[in-house]
Amino acid sequence: MIEVYFHNSLSGKKEKFSPADPKRVTVYSCGPTVYNFAHIGNLRAFLFVDVLRRSLKLLGYGVEMTMNITDIDDKIIRDSIASKKSIQEFTAPWTQAFFEDLKTVSAETLEHYPKATESIPEMIDIIQKLQAKGLVYEKDDSLYFSIQKFNGYGRLSKIDVTGMKTGTRYDTDEYEKEDVRDFVLWKSPKLEGEASWDTLVGTGRPGWHLECSAMIRKVYHSGVDIHTGGVDLLFPHHENEIAQSEGAFPGETFVGTWLHSEHLLVDGQKMSKSKGNFYTLRDLVRQGLDPKAIRFLLISAHYRSKLNFSTDRIAEATANIRKIQNCVDRLLDSEKGTIVSDSYAFALPVTQGWKKEFEESLADDLNVSKALAVVFESVRQINSFLDTNQTDSSQRIEYIQLFAYYDRIFGVLDFSSKTDLIDSEIDSLIEERQTARKNKDFARSDAIRDQLLAQGILIEDTKDGIRWRRK
Ligand code: AMP
Ligand code: ZN
Repeated sequence: MIEVYFHNSLSGKKEKFSPADPKRVTVYSCGPTVYNFAHIGNLRAFLFVDVLRRSLKLLGYGVEMTMNITDIDDKIIRDSIASKKSIQEFTAPWTQAFFEDLKTVSAETLEHYPKATESIPEMIDIIQKLQAKGLVYEKDDSLYFSIQKFNGYGRLSKIDVTGMKTGTRYDTDEYEKEDVRDFVLWKSPKLEGEASWDTLVGTGRPGWHLECSAMIRKVYHSGVDIHTGGVDLLFPHHENEIAQSEGAFPGETFVGTWLHSEHLLVDGQKMSKSKGNFYTLRDLVRQGLDPKAIRFLLISAHYRSKLNFSTDRIAEATANIRKIQNCVDRLLDSEKGTIVSDSYAFALPVTQGWKKEFEESLADDLNVSKALAVVFESVRQINSFLDTNQTDSSQRIEYIQLFAYYDRIFGVLDFSSKTDLIDSEIDSLIEERQTARKNKDFARSDAIRDQLLAQGILIEDTKDGIRWRRK
Protein backbone atom coordinates (compact mmCIF):
# COMPACT_ATOMS: atom_id res chain seq x y z
CA MET A 1 0.00 0.00 0.00
CA ILE A 2 1.36 3.40 -0.98
CA GLU A 3 0.94 6.48 1.19
CA VAL A 4 -1.57 8.87 -0.38
CA TYR A 5 -2.02 12.62 0.04
CA PHE A 6 -5.30 14.37 -0.67
CA HIS A 7 -6.26 18.02 -0.73
CA ASN A 8 -9.00 18.05 1.90
CA SER A 9 -11.50 20.88 1.30
CA LEU A 10 -12.24 20.96 5.02
CA SER A 11 -8.71 21.99 6.02
CA GLY A 12 -7.85 23.56 2.67
CA LYS A 13 -4.58 21.61 2.77
CA LYS A 14 -2.95 18.54 1.35
CA GLU A 15 -3.07 15.88 4.06
CA LYS A 16 -1.85 12.34 4.50
CA PHE A 17 -4.76 10.00 3.98
CA SER A 18 -5.24 7.64 6.93
CA PRO A 19 -8.42 5.59 6.62
CA ALA A 20 -9.35 3.43 9.60
CA ASP A 21 -9.26 0.31 7.42
CA PRO A 22 -7.14 0.63 4.25
CA LYS A 23 -8.65 -2.62 2.99
CA ARG A 24 -12.09 -1.00 3.06
CA VAL A 25 -11.93 2.70 2.24
CA THR A 26 -15.48 4.04 2.37
CA VAL A 27 -16.39 6.64 -0.23
CA TYR A 28 -19.62 8.50 -0.92
CA SER A 29 -20.13 10.60 -4.04
CA CYS A 30 -23.06 12.83 -4.86
CA GLY A 31 -24.62 11.32 -7.94
CA PRO A 32 -26.99 12.45 -10.66
CA THR A 33 -30.37 14.07 -10.33
CA VAL A 34 -32.30 11.88 -12.73
CA TYR A 35 -34.58 14.25 -14.64
CA ASN A 36 -32.68 14.42 -17.93
CA PHE A 37 -29.54 13.12 -19.63
CA ALA A 38 -26.36 13.95 -17.75
CA HIS A 39 -24.16 16.48 -19.58
CA ILE A 40 -20.45 15.88 -19.96
CA GLY A 41 -19.74 18.37 -17.15
CA ASN A 42 -21.63 16.03 -14.81
CA LEU A 43 -19.72 13.21 -16.40
CA ARG A 44 -16.44 14.87 -15.47
CA ALA A 45 -17.51 14.71 -11.79
CA PHE A 46 -18.52 11.04 -12.18
CA LEU A 47 -15.30 10.14 -13.99
CA PHE A 48 -13.34 11.79 -11.22
CA VAL A 49 -14.93 9.21 -8.92
CA ASP A 50 -13.80 6.50 -11.34
CA VAL A 51 -10.23 7.81 -11.27
CA LEU A 52 -10.33 7.95 -7.47
CA ARG A 53 -11.54 4.35 -7.37
CA ARG A 54 -9.02 3.04 -9.89
CA SER A 55 -6.17 4.94 -8.21
CA LEU A 56 -6.95 3.71 -4.70
CA LYS A 57 -7.10 0.15 -6.01
CA LEU A 58 -3.88 0.51 -7.99
CA LEU A 59 -2.16 1.93 -4.92
CA GLY A 60 -3.14 -1.11 -2.87
CA TYR A 61 -6.33 -0.06 -1.06
CA GLY A 62 -9.63 -1.88 -0.90
CA VAL A 63 -12.73 0.25 -1.56
CA GLU A 64 -16.42 0.25 -0.78
CA MET A 65 -17.95 3.05 -2.81
CA THR A 66 -21.39 4.59 -3.13
CA MET A 67 -22.97 7.00 -5.57
CA ASN A 68 -26.52 8.04 -4.88
CA ILE A 69 -29.34 8.52 -7.33
CA THR A 70 -31.30 11.67 -6.49
CA ASP A 71 -34.72 10.58 -7.66
CA ILE A 72 -36.71 13.21 -5.83
CA ASP A 73 -36.09 16.95 -5.75
CA ASP A 74 -37.71 20.21 -6.88
CA LYS A 75 -36.89 19.69 -10.57
CA ILE A 76 -38.10 16.08 -10.62
CA ILE A 77 -41.38 17.04 -8.95
CA ARG A 78 -41.89 19.87 -11.46
CA ASP A 79 -41.12 17.73 -14.54
CA SER A 80 -42.95 14.60 -13.42
CA ILE A 81 -46.12 16.60 -12.78
CA ALA A 82 -45.79 18.27 -16.19
CA SER A 83 -45.44 14.88 -17.88
CA LYS A 84 -48.29 13.38 -15.80
CA LYS A 85 -46.11 10.55 -14.55
CA SER A 86 -45.36 9.14 -11.14
CA ILE A 87 -41.90 9.89 -9.76
CA GLN A 88 -40.94 6.26 -10.38
CA GLU A 89 -42.16 6.23 -14.01
CA PHE A 90 -40.56 9.57 -14.71
CA THR A 91 -37.12 8.85 -13.24
CA ALA A 92 -36.66 5.20 -14.37
CA PRO A 93 -35.54 5.94 -17.96
CA TRP A 94 -33.18 8.72 -16.84
CA THR A 95 -31.64 6.44 -14.25
CA GLN A 96 -31.11 3.81 -16.92
CA ALA A 97 -29.57 6.40 -19.25
CA PHE A 98 -27.15 7.39 -16.50
CA PHE A 99 -25.91 3.81 -16.10
CA GLU A 100 -25.63 3.44 -19.88
CA ASP A 101 -23.52 6.61 -20.06
CA LEU A 102 -21.20 5.36 -17.32
CA LYS A 103 -20.73 2.17 -19.28
CA THR A 104 -20.04 4.07 -22.51
CA VAL A 105 -17.15 5.91 -20.85
CA SER A 106 -15.84 2.73 -19.18
CA ALA A 107 -16.49 3.77 -15.59
CA GLU A 108 -16.20 0.87 -13.17
CA THR A 109 -19.36 -0.21 -11.37
CA LEU A 110 -19.43 0.85 -7.71
CA GLU A 111 -20.58 -1.28 -4.82
CA HIS A 112 -23.76 0.76 -4.03
CA TYR A 113 -26.20 3.01 -5.90
CA PRO A 114 -28.91 3.87 -3.35
CA LYS A 115 -31.98 5.85 -4.35
CA ALA A 116 -33.35 8.70 -2.28
CA THR A 117 -36.93 7.41 -2.52
CA GLU A 118 -35.80 4.10 -1.02
CA SER A 119 -34.15 5.79 1.95
CA ILE A 120 -37.09 7.57 3.57
CA PRO A 121 -36.91 5.67 6.94
CA GLU A 122 -33.26 6.75 7.36
CA MET A 123 -34.27 10.37 6.65
CA ILE A 124 -37.02 10.26 9.26
CA ASP A 125 -34.60 8.78 11.77
CA ILE A 126 -32.18 11.68 11.27
CA ILE A 127 -34.97 14.26 11.56
CA GLN A 128 -36.17 12.68 14.81
CA LYS A 129 -32.66 12.71 16.25
CA LEU A 130 -32.26 16.36 15.25
CA GLN A 131 -35.66 17.18 16.80
CA ALA A 132 -34.57 15.54 20.07
CA LYS A 133 -31.57 17.87 20.11
CA GLY A 134 -33.64 20.99 19.47
CA LEU A 135 -32.15 21.68 16.04
CA VAL A 136 -35.44 21.58 14.12
CA TYR A 137 -38.42 23.94 13.96
CA GLU A 138 -41.71 23.80 12.10
CA LYS A 139 -43.26 26.44 9.89
CA ASP A 140 -46.36 25.91 7.72
CA ASP A 141 -46.09 22.11 8.17
CA SER A 142 -42.50 22.01 6.86
CA LEU A 143 -39.47 21.27 9.02
CA TYR A 144 -36.34 23.42 9.00
CA PHE A 145 -32.84 23.03 10.39
CA SER A 146 -31.85 25.92 12.62
CA ILE A 147 -28.25 26.62 11.65
CA GLN A 148 -27.65 29.06 14.53
CA LYS A 149 -28.28 26.23 16.99
CA PHE A 150 -25.68 23.97 15.42
CA ASN A 151 -22.22 24.71 16.65
CA GLY A 152 -19.85 24.62 13.72
CA TYR A 153 -22.06 25.58 10.78
CA GLY A 154 -19.79 27.02 8.08
CA ARG A 155 -16.67 24.98 8.81
CA LEU A 156 -16.44 23.58 5.29
CA SER A 157 -17.46 26.67 3.33
CA LYS A 158 -15.82 29.07 5.83
CA ILE A 159 -19.02 31.00 6.32
CA ASP A 160 -19.40 33.04 9.47
CA VAL A 161 -22.97 32.86 10.77
CA THR A 162 -22.50 35.07 13.82
CA GLY A 163 -24.79 38.04 13.59
CA MET A 164 -26.93 36.35 10.96
CA LYS A 165 -30.65 37.06 11.21
CA THR A 166 -32.32 34.01 12.76
CA GLY A 167 -35.48 32.41 11.47
CA THR A 168 -35.06 33.27 7.79
CA ARG A 169 -35.26 30.13 5.75
CA TYR A 170 -35.21 28.52 2.36
CA ASP A 171 -37.53 25.95 0.85
CA THR A 172 -35.58 25.59 -2.36
CA ASP A 173 -32.79 23.05 -2.72
CA GLU A 174 -30.21 25.41 -4.16
CA TYR A 175 -29.18 28.89 -3.06
CA GLU A 176 -26.14 31.13 -2.92
CA LYS A 177 -23.49 31.49 -0.24
CA GLU A 178 -24.33 35.18 0.18
CA ASP A 179 -27.82 34.16 1.11
CA VAL A 180 -27.26 31.70 3.91
CA ARG A 181 -30.45 30.73 5.76
CA ASP A 182 -32.06 27.83 7.59
CA PHE A 183 -32.66 25.00 5.17
CA VAL A 184 -35.60 22.70 4.77
CA LEU A 185 -35.44 19.07 5.98
CA TRP A 186 -38.96 17.97 5.23
CA LYS A 187 -41.33 19.86 2.93
CA SER A 188 -45.09 19.82 3.11
CA PRO A 189 -46.73 19.27 -0.30
CA LYS A 190 -47.21 22.47 -2.25
CA LEU A 191 -48.34 21.42 -5.71
CA GLU A 192 -51.36 19.50 -6.88
CA GLY A 193 -50.29 15.89 -7.54
CA GLU A 194 -46.97 16.24 -5.73
CA ALA A 195 -45.40 13.01 -4.39
CA SER A 196 -45.39 12.77 -0.61
CA TRP A 197 -44.90 10.28 2.21
CA ASP A 198 -46.98 9.95 5.39
CA THR A 199 -44.45 9.69 8.17
CA LEU A 200 -44.00 10.22 11.89
CA VAL A 201 -42.67 13.72 11.22
CA GLY A 202 -45.58 14.64 8.98
CA THR A 203 -46.73 14.27 5.39
CA GLY A 204 -44.23 15.55 2.91
CA ARG A 205 -41.04 14.87 1.05
CA PRO A 206 -37.36 15.32 1.78
CA GLY A 207 -35.18 18.34 1.16
CA TRP A 208 -32.31 17.46 -1.13
CA HIS A 209 -29.55 17.85 1.47
CA LEU A 210 -31.14 15.36 3.84
CA GLU A 211 -31.09 12.66 1.18
CA CYS A 212 -27.30 12.30 1.10
CA SER A 213 -26.92 12.27 4.91
CA ALA A 214 -29.52 9.51 5.04
CA MET A 215 -28.04 7.41 2.25
CA ILE A 216 -24.59 7.50 3.83
CA ARG A 217 -26.11 6.25 7.07
CA LYS A 218 -28.14 3.62 5.27
CA VAL A 219 -25.15 2.14 3.43
CA TYR A 220 -22.37 2.48 6.02
CA HIS A 221 -24.14 2.85 9.41
CA SER A 222 -21.45 5.46 10.09
CA GLY A 223 -19.65 8.33 8.37
CA VAL A 224 -17.22 7.84 5.47
CA ASP A 225 -13.51 8.21 4.81
CA ILE A 226 -14.03 10.25 1.64
CA HIS A 227 -16.94 12.32 0.32
CA THR A 228 -16.81 13.74 -3.21
CA GLY A 229 -18.83 16.09 -5.38
CA GLY A 230 -18.41 18.97 -7.79
CA VAL A 231 -17.24 22.30 -6.29
CA ASP A 232 -20.72 23.76 -6.73
CA LEU A 233 -21.95 21.30 -4.09
CA LEU A 234 -19.60 22.53 -1.38
CA PHE A 235 -22.15 25.15 -0.37
CA PRO A 236 -24.91 24.76 0.61
CA HIS A 237 -25.24 21.04 -0.06
CA HIS A 238 -22.22 19.64 1.75
CA GLU A 239 -22.28 22.22 4.51
CA ASN A 240 -25.86 21.16 5.20
CA GLU A 241 -24.97 17.47 5.08
CA ILE A 242 -22.37 18.07 7.81
CA ALA A 243 -24.88 19.96 9.95
CA GLN A 244 -27.49 17.20 9.65
CA SER A 245 -25.18 14.25 10.16
CA GLU A 246 -23.03 15.69 12.92
CA GLY A 247 -26.13 17.18 14.55
CA ALA A 248 -27.84 13.78 14.59
CA PHE A 249 -24.77 11.72 15.49
CA PRO A 250 -22.61 13.94 17.68
CA GLY A 251 -19.15 12.66 18.51
CA GLU A 252 -18.83 10.71 15.26
CA THR A 253 -16.70 11.91 12.37
CA PHE A 254 -19.03 12.31 9.43
CA VAL A 255 -16.40 12.68 6.69
CA GLY A 256 -12.62 12.35 6.97
CA THR A 257 -11.64 13.83 3.60
CA TRP A 258 -13.73 16.09 1.36
CA LEU A 259 -12.72 16.07 -2.30
CA HIS A 260 -14.27 18.57 -4.70
CA SER A 261 -13.80 18.32 -8.44
CA GLU A 262 -13.65 21.43 -10.59
CA HIS A 263 -15.98 22.32 -13.41
CA LEU A 264 -15.96 21.62 -17.07
CA LEU A 265 -16.24 24.91 -18.91
CA VAL A 266 -17.46 25.96 -22.33
CA ASP A 267 -15.99 29.24 -23.55
CA GLY A 268 -14.87 30.02 -20.02
CA GLN A 269 -18.31 29.43 -18.48
CA LYS A 270 -19.49 26.49 -16.36
CA MET A 271 -21.29 23.93 -18.52
CA SER A 272 -24.82 23.75 -17.17
CA LYS A 273 -28.35 22.88 -18.16
CA SER A 274 -29.65 26.27 -17.05
CA LYS A 275 -27.18 28.17 -19.27
CA GLY A 276 -28.00 25.87 -22.20
CA ASN A 277 -24.27 25.56 -23.07
CA PHE A 278 -24.12 21.83 -22.55
CA TYR A 279 -23.43 18.66 -24.51
CA THR A 280 -24.62 15.23 -23.57
CA LEU A 281 -22.45 12.21 -24.20
CA ARG A 282 -25.04 10.99 -26.68
CA ASP A 283 -24.86 14.24 -28.70
CA LEU A 284 -21.11 13.81 -29.04
CA VAL A 285 -21.18 10.11 -29.84
CA ARG A 286 -23.84 10.76 -32.47
CA GLN A 287 -21.49 13.31 -34.04
CA GLY A 288 -18.96 10.51 -34.39
CA LEU A 289 -16.71 11.36 -31.42
CA ASP A 290 -15.05 8.41 -29.74
CA PRO A 291 -16.23 7.86 -26.13
CA LYS A 292 -12.67 6.85 -25.26
CA ALA A 293 -11.40 10.26 -26.36
CA ILE A 294 -14.14 11.94 -24.31
CA ARG A 295 -13.17 9.86 -21.27
CA PHE A 296 -9.49 10.59 -21.81
CA LEU A 297 -10.06 14.34 -22.10
CA LEU A 298 -12.28 14.51 -19.02
CA ILE A 299 -9.83 12.64 -16.79
CA SER A 300 -6.54 13.97 -18.09
CA ALA A 301 -6.62 17.37 -16.36
CA HIS A 302 -6.08 17.54 -12.61
CA TYR A 303 -9.45 17.27 -10.86
CA ARG A 304 -8.95 20.58 -9.05
CA SER A 305 -8.32 22.55 -12.27
CA LYS A 306 -11.02 23.90 -14.48
CA LEU A 307 -11.09 22.27 -17.88
CA ASN A 308 -12.29 23.87 -21.09
CA PHE A 309 -14.24 21.65 -23.44
CA SER A 310 -13.93 22.01 -27.20
CA THR A 311 -13.92 19.69 -30.21
CA ASP A 312 -10.25 20.62 -30.75
CA ARG A 313 -9.47 19.24 -27.32
CA ILE A 314 -11.26 16.01 -28.23
CA ALA A 315 -9.19 15.75 -31.41
CA GLU A 316 -6.08 16.26 -29.28
CA ALA A 317 -7.23 13.50 -26.91
CA THR A 318 -7.85 11.17 -29.88
CA ALA A 319 -4.35 11.83 -31.19
CA ASN A 320 -2.83 11.22 -27.75
CA ILE A 321 -4.59 7.89 -27.33
CA ARG A 322 -3.43 6.90 -30.80
CA LYS A 323 0.14 7.80 -29.92
CA ILE A 324 0.07 5.44 -26.94
CA GLN A 325 -1.87 2.74 -28.80
CA ASN A 326 0.58 2.84 -31.71
CA CYS A 327 3.42 2.04 -29.36
CA VAL A 328 1.36 -0.78 -27.81
CA ASP A 329 0.54 -2.08 -31.30
CA ARG A 330 4.21 -2.07 -32.28
CA LEU A 331 4.97 -4.19 -29.22
CA LEU A 332 2.01 -6.48 -29.80
CA ASP A 333 2.96 -6.88 -33.46
CA SER A 334 6.24 -8.46 -32.54
CA GLU A 335 4.84 -10.31 -29.54
CA LYS A 336 1.69 -11.70 -31.09
CA GLY A 337 -0.56 -13.55 -28.70
CA THR A 338 0.72 -11.78 -25.56
CA ILE A 339 -2.06 -11.86 -23.00
CA VAL A 340 -1.78 -9.17 -20.35
CA SER A 341 -1.90 -10.57 -16.84
CA ASP A 342 -2.64 -8.70 -13.64
CA SER A 343 0.77 -9.35 -12.18
CA TYR A 344 2.71 -6.12 -12.38
CA ALA A 345 6.08 -7.12 -10.95
CA PHE A 346 8.62 -5.54 -13.27
CA ALA A 347 12.22 -6.64 -13.69
CA LEU A 348 13.76 -3.83 -15.73
CA PRO A 349 15.06 -0.79 -13.82
CA VAL A 350 13.59 1.57 -16.42
CA THR A 351 10.12 0.02 -16.08
CA GLN A 352 10.35 -0.03 -12.30
CA GLY A 353 11.24 3.67 -12.40
CA TRP A 354 8.25 4.57 -14.56
CA LYS A 355 5.92 2.48 -12.43
CA LYS A 356 7.13 4.23 -9.30
CA GLU A 357 6.79 7.71 -10.81
CA PHE A 358 3.33 6.84 -12.11
CA GLU A 359 2.22 5.66 -8.67
CA GLU A 360 3.75 8.66 -6.91
CA SER A 361 1.90 11.03 -9.24
CA LEU A 362 -1.43 9.41 -8.44
CA ALA A 363 -0.63 9.27 -4.72
CA ASP A 364 0.00 13.02 -4.84
CA ASP A 365 -3.62 14.16 -4.79
CA LEU A 366 -4.46 12.16 -7.94
CA ASN A 367 -2.17 14.09 -10.23
CA VAL A 368 -3.32 12.42 -13.44
CA SER A 369 -1.62 14.96 -15.70
CA LYS A 370 1.72 14.17 -14.08
CA ALA A 371 1.00 10.43 -14.43
CA LEU A 372 0.24 11.03 -18.10
CA ALA A 373 3.60 12.74 -18.58
CA VAL A 374 5.20 9.50 -17.33
CA VAL A 375 3.16 7.54 -19.88
CA PHE A 376 4.32 9.75 -22.74
CA GLU A 377 7.91 9.60 -21.59
CA SER A 378 7.70 5.79 -21.68
CA VAL A 379 6.12 5.91 -25.14
CA ARG A 380 8.95 8.12 -26.38
CA GLN A 381 11.69 5.95 -24.95
CA ILE A 382 10.14 2.60 -25.88
CA ASN A 383 9.59 3.79 -29.46
CA SER A 384 13.21 4.74 -29.60
CA PHE A 385 14.29 1.35 -28.19
CA LEU A 386 12.17 -0.30 -30.90
CA ASP A 387 13.53 1.96 -33.65
CA THR A 388 17.08 1.00 -32.75
CA ASN A 389 16.36 -2.69 -32.13
CA GLN A 390 17.34 -2.42 -28.49
CA THR A 391 14.67 -4.76 -27.16
CA ASP A 392 14.32 -8.47 -26.78
CA SER A 393 11.12 -10.43 -26.45
CA SER A 394 10.97 -10.49 -22.65
CA GLN A 395 11.49 -6.72 -22.52
CA ARG A 396 8.77 -6.11 -25.07
CA ILE A 397 6.38 -8.26 -23.06
CA GLU A 398 7.28 -6.27 -19.95
CA TYR A 399 6.52 -3.01 -21.79
CA ILE A 400 3.16 -4.38 -22.86
CA GLN A 401 2.48 -5.15 -19.21
CA LEU A 402 3.55 -1.64 -18.26
CA PHE A 403 0.97 -0.11 -20.60
CA ALA A 404 -1.66 -2.47 -19.22
CA TYR A 405 -0.72 -1.16 -15.77
CA TYR A 406 -1.16 2.47 -16.89
CA ASP A 407 -4.44 1.54 -18.49
CA ARG A 408 -5.84 0.45 -15.16
CA ILE A 409 -6.37 4.19 -14.68
CA PHE A 410 -7.00 5.43 -18.20
CA GLY A 411 -9.12 2.58 -19.54
CA VAL A 412 -8.66 3.52 -23.21
CA LEU A 413 -6.18 1.05 -24.66
CA ASP A 414 -6.75 -2.13 -26.62
CA PHE A 415 -4.60 -5.18 -25.90
CA SER A 416 -6.64 -7.71 -27.84
CA SER A 417 -4.77 -9.76 -30.38
CA LYS A 418 -5.67 -8.48 -33.79
CA THR A 419 -7.83 -10.73 -35.92
CA ASP A 420 -6.63 -10.72 -39.49
CA LEU A 421 -9.05 -9.37 -42.05
CA ILE A 422 -9.00 -11.13 -45.38
CA ASP A 423 -8.43 -9.06 -48.56
CA SER A 424 -12.03 -9.10 -49.77
CA GLU A 425 -13.22 -7.82 -46.34
CA ILE A 426 -10.75 -4.97 -46.58
CA ASP A 427 -11.90 -4.15 -50.13
CA SER A 428 -15.51 -3.96 -49.09
CA LEU A 429 -14.73 -1.80 -46.04
CA ILE A 430 -12.82 0.60 -48.27
CA GLU A 431 -15.72 0.71 -50.70
CA GLU A 432 -18.07 1.49 -47.83
CA ARG A 433 -15.71 4.23 -46.68
CA GLN A 434 -15.75 5.82 -50.16
CA THR A 435 -19.54 5.84 -50.19
CA ALA A 436 -19.59 7.36 -46.70
CA ARG A 437 -17.22 10.09 -47.85
CA LYS A 438 -19.31 10.80 -50.90
CA ASN A 439 -22.34 11.17 -48.60
CA LYS A 440 -20.32 13.43 -46.29
CA ASP A 441 -20.75 10.88 -43.49
CA PHE A 442 -17.30 11.59 -42.13
CA ALA A 443 -18.00 9.98 -38.79
CA ARG A 444 -18.53 6.67 -40.55
CA SER A 445 -15.60 7.08 -42.93
CA ASP A 446 -13.27 7.96 -40.05
CA ALA A 447 -14.56 5.02 -38.04
CA ILE A 448 -13.75 2.66 -40.92
CA ARG A 449 -10.29 4.20 -41.33
CA ASP A 450 -9.65 3.73 -37.59
CA GLN A 451 -10.95 0.16 -37.69
CA LEU A 452 -8.58 -0.66 -40.55
CA LEU A 453 -5.70 1.12 -38.87
CA ALA A 454 -6.29 -0.86 -35.70
CA GLN A 455 -5.89 -3.99 -37.82
CA GLY A 456 -2.65 -2.70 -39.25
CA ILE A 457 -4.10 -1.68 -42.63
CA LEU A 458 -2.90 1.63 -44.03
CA ILE A 459 -5.01 3.42 -46.65
CA GLU A 460 -3.40 5.72 -49.19
CA ASP A 461 -5.16 8.09 -51.54
CA THR A 462 -3.16 8.02 -54.80
CA LYS A 463 -3.90 9.60 -58.17
CA ASP A 464 -4.87 6.12 -59.37
CA GLY A 465 -7.41 5.79 -56.59
CA ILE A 466 -7.36 4.20 -53.16
CA ARG A 467 -4.62 1.74 -52.30
CA TRP A 468 -4.11 -0.18 -49.10
CA ARG A 469 -1.26 -2.11 -47.59
CA ARG A 470 -0.54 -4.02 -44.42
CA LYS A 471 1.75 -2.34 -41.91
P1 AMP B 1 -26.55 17.07 -10.73
O1 AMP B 1 -27.04 15.93 -11.59
O2 AMP B 1 -26.92 18.41 -11.25
O3 AMP B 1 -26.93 16.89 -9.28
O4 AMP B 1 -24.94 17.07 -10.77
C1 AMP B 1 -24.17 15.91 -10.68
C2 AMP B 1 -22.71 16.25 -10.46
O5 AMP B 1 -22.17 16.99 -11.56
C3 AMP B 1 -22.42 17.11 -9.23
O6 AMP B 1 -21.29 16.57 -8.54
C4 AMP B 1 -22.11 18.48 -9.80
O7 AMP B 1 -21.26 19.21 -8.96
C5 AMP B 1 -21.41 18.10 -11.08
N1 AMP B 1 -21.40 19.15 -12.11
C6 AMP B 1 -22.43 19.93 -12.55
N2 AMP B 1 -22.03 20.77 -13.54
C7 AMP B 1 -20.71 20.51 -13.77
C8 AMP B 1 -19.70 21.02 -14.67
N3 AMP B 1 -19.97 21.97 -15.57
N4 AMP B 1 -18.47 20.51 -14.60
C9 AMP B 1 -18.15 19.54 -13.70
N5 AMP B 1 -19.04 19.01 -12.82
C10 AMP B 1 -20.30 19.48 -12.85
ZN1 ZN C 1 -25.24 14.90 -2.19
